[in-house]
Amino acid sequence: MFLIWLLILGAVLAAFMMMNPAGTQTQELSISEFITRVETGDVASVMISGDHVRGATTSRGTITAYTTDRTELTRVMREHHVPYREEPPPQTGNMLMLLLKLGIPVLLLLFLFRAMKNAGGGGGMIQKALASKATLHTEGKVTFKDVAGVDEAVEECRDLVEFLKNPSRFMKLGGRVPKGILLIGESGCGKTLLARAVAGESGVPFFTADASSFVEMFVGVGASRVRDLFEQARKKRPCIIFIDELDAVGKKRGGLTTGGGHDEREQTLNQLLIAMDGFSANEGIIVMGATNRPETLDSALTRPGRFDRQVVVPRPDINGRVDILKVHSQKIPLAADVDLVVTARGTTGMTGADLENLLNEAALYAAKLNKDKVSMADIEYARDKIFMGPERKGDILSKAEKNVVAHHESGHALVGWLTPDADPVHRVTIVPRGKALGLTWSLPTQDVKLFRRNQLLAQIDVLYGGRMAEELVLGEDITTGARNDYERLTAIARAMITDYAMGPEDLGLRTFGDKERGFIFEHSEEDFGATTASRIDAAVDSLLKARRARVRELIQEHKDKLLALAAMLLEQETVESGELEKLFGPRPAA
Ligand code: ADP
Ligand code: ZN
Repeated sequence: MFLIWLLILGAVLAAFMMMNPAGTQTQELSISEFITRVETGDVASVMISGDHVRGATTSRGTITAYTTDRTELTRVMREHHVPYREEPPPQTGNMLMLLLKLGIPVLLLLFLFRAMKNAGGGGGMIQKALASKATLHTEGKVTFKDVAGVDEAVEECRDLVEFLKNPSRFMKLGGRVPKGILLIGESGCGKTLLARAVAGESGVPFFTADASSFVEMFVGVGASRVRDLFEQARKKRPCIIFIDELDAVGKKRGGLTTGGGHDEREQTLNQLLIAMDGFSANEGIIVMGATNRPETLDSALTRPGRFDRQVVVPRPDINGRVDILKVHSQKIPLAADVDLVVTARGTTGMTGADLENLLNEAALYAAKLNKDKVSMADIEYARDKIFMGPERKGDILSKAEKNVVAHHESGHALVGWLTPDADPVHRVTIVPRGKALGLTWSLPTQDVKLFRRNQLLAQIDVLYGGRMAEELVLGEDITTGARNDYERLTAIARAMITDYAMGPEDLGLRTFGDKERGFIFEHSEEDFGATTASRIDAAVDSLLKARRARVRELIQEHKDKLLALAAMLLEQETVESGELEKLFGPRPAA
């Protein structure tokens, strides 16, 4: 009964809020404008409701748009890590708004009346609101073959398939199956995909629900949705229930909260625990929950009999990326020059979703050029676009500026080429992209987990290459273009001395600085004294001085090569590694 009063109160409040949108600014946009706002980082979160999308902007405004196809939008939101939620479309839409505005008192009375009546017999409006928003998936079968690059996670899920195919037989053979599996990994690494593959392999229904949709404005709704979800699932056993973003309900209880949704979340969590305890392990329901922050989960959730098995779905390493690219390129006609290993090398840090998106962009680009196959150039184009933003064609640089950029980039490329421990230079370009005016791409030959000292020094050297080349051609009249290079090389040098104990012997006893505070320059709370501080500064300076001297010399010695590359860049804008080799000769061995 209490719940109903709260619902009514909530409805009244909501109605008033709808009537009086003053205070917040709402802008109606076209869907393409909306997407651009998401891309520029203007949008903090998005709510999708049928064909309407509503975004909260970072400046506390609201933007709305209408669209019937939101695949592009969801992709962009995912890419920019903008959280979004879906709501079922309002059944009555604008009519309801109109009614509310015209005769709200009458309507409220009616609502109240109906709500009271329904409370006795069940059913009706309230019942609808309390129903779970779970979706039952029956479309396209996903199998383990579709999940690439995370072999260990797949292995961990194989016994679930045996179990779901024949629960009682599996139990008779003494198999012990957890009811709940926690899939841990960042978004886009394939948690949902893996859960669907388990369902696909075992041929059982797959229910998904987003935990954030459980936590609504009204206390009690979430709990009821959870109950409903498990009831639906029970009717379809054996089956899988997949709960995305489990941390939305499963955060640790107690501690500081900001009030409001707290009660609701707690009730929802309790209901989830009750539901999981309510069926026994042999009933053929497996609950898979996804999270990327397992440490924030309430410990009650991870107790035996609940989410007691953890499967990590990590970001893929280089071999994993090759496999994922292979899976997703099956649908795409590839030209003979495509080497997915090279693509994998150049996409360190990308998730499965990112890689899928990369191939998709490449295919779109190839289609735009009216090609019937996707070539390496298309893939590289897509990758550059994703990493660095779109190309900015047109004359955004003056002739003189182009000249500086060409020499600056040639400096990076030349030093990279001549320094054995630097990553091989892959391509140099003076086409501006995103914030960068020019770019020298290098490709690591493998994912590095352990950097050697010489590799760090090589990175510093390559970063010095740009400015040293400017110096060579411009003399004293150097430019601001090296700012980012200097920031990065300073950070590397400092970290070598304060974090990795790679400095002079007398500083090699310990680390310096309060690492909790994040990056090394930020330490306001230093864990060393003033004398040590000046020794650190001196060590950083002397290290960098030696590097800069080496690079200056190297560039002077190979001036002819530098000028040749710069001329080539001014002529054709982009130079690939093959052409570099012709220009510079083979790279020195490490
Ligand atoms: P998560 O649930 O971890 O956020 P998803 O499973 O929703 O990630 O991944 C989104 C899409 O990205 C998948 O549908 C799939 O196309 C692609 N993808 C992600 N990870 C992989 C992977 N390991 N292998 C193949 N495709 C993947
Ligand atoms: Zn530079």
